[in-house]
Amino acid sequence: MDQKWLAGVDIGGTTIKMAFVSLQGDIVDKWEIYTNKSENGKHIPTEIARSIENKLSEQHKTKEILAGLGVGAPGPINDEDGSVAVGVNIGWEKNFPLKAKLEQELSLPVIVDNDANVAAIGEMWKGAGERAKDVLCVTLGTGVGGGVIANGEVLHGVNGAAGEIGHITVVVDDGAPCNCGKKGCLETVASATGVVRFAKEMLKTSEQESKLRSMDIDRLTAKDIFDLAKEMDPLANEIVKRITHYLGLALANASNVINPKKIVIGGGVSKAGNILLNPLKEEFQKFAFPRVSEGAELTIAKLENDAGVIGAAWLAKTEAGY
Ligand code: ZN
Repeated sequence: MDQKWLAGVDIGGTTIKMAFVSLQGDIVDKWEIYTNKSENGKHIPTEIARSIENKLSEQHKTKEILAGLGVGAPGPINDEDGSVAVGVNIGWEKNFPLKAKLEQELSLPVIVDNDANVAAIGEMWKGAGERAKDVLCVTLGTGVGGGVIANGEVLHGVNGAAGEIGHITVVVDDGAPCNCGKKGCLETVASATGVVRFAKEMLKTSEQESKLRSMDIDRLTAKDIFDLAKEMDPLANEIVKRITHYLGLALANASNVINPKKIVIGGGVSKAGNILLNPLKEEFQKFAFPRVSEGAELTIAKLENDAGVIGAAWLAKTEAGY
């Protein structure tokens, strides 16, 4: 008999990434489909199921080969029934029954978790987490996602909101408004949009010289700022310093709670590499409890876009008892 495969699905606002993954965590095949948000995203479970079936037949396999399906979805997940409490990016109604619908469509065991948690698991299993049991993951993308693995288990909390590192308050007074309704969250300064917003603010309040002043400010990206920092642009360097100050503060405070071995920085902003990581290490050290700091290694994520599908597959594997 063929060795079993796992199916991993990572639902995003624009695309749904899918993969067949071996029990060892290697991708056998991966593909993506467009996220159909029409009619409040109600067609999504059916489209995922049909796409998996089509891929299986392309590979001349039947559903028998799948041990289960793991799914990462945006928003907090209700632990008891795998429904998505709030799926704003997709347009799902409250408590959208994602697990139940997928099980009905596919007749396979399905396990659903939050997308940031799933990415953290992926990095723990096959990426920069290197199978450490205590891992803190932060994804600096359009928003800031967080996932916490403590003693080998993903933390969910009482209603699925554990590990929301992006909403740790870092700007205590007069912070910018955040999507969550609060002010001064890490997300308002360290997400791709937050970096740009913060840079625009600094351009107004600082007198420092910068190539940024001659650029089209409406088209400014986080990458531009890190690229200029690499060229030793004084203002870009100051912006990066301030951003890593806030990020280091949030990661240090979160780390003091779980004492992680690995702190994995992922998402688009993390592509800046060492220009982000080096000052971040300094700031982290400044704020973390010394023994926590000694135990922790800050590192850039390795799996990029595959973290979600690999983490989802790991959930399926665990659920199926492999
Ligand atoms: Zn927030």
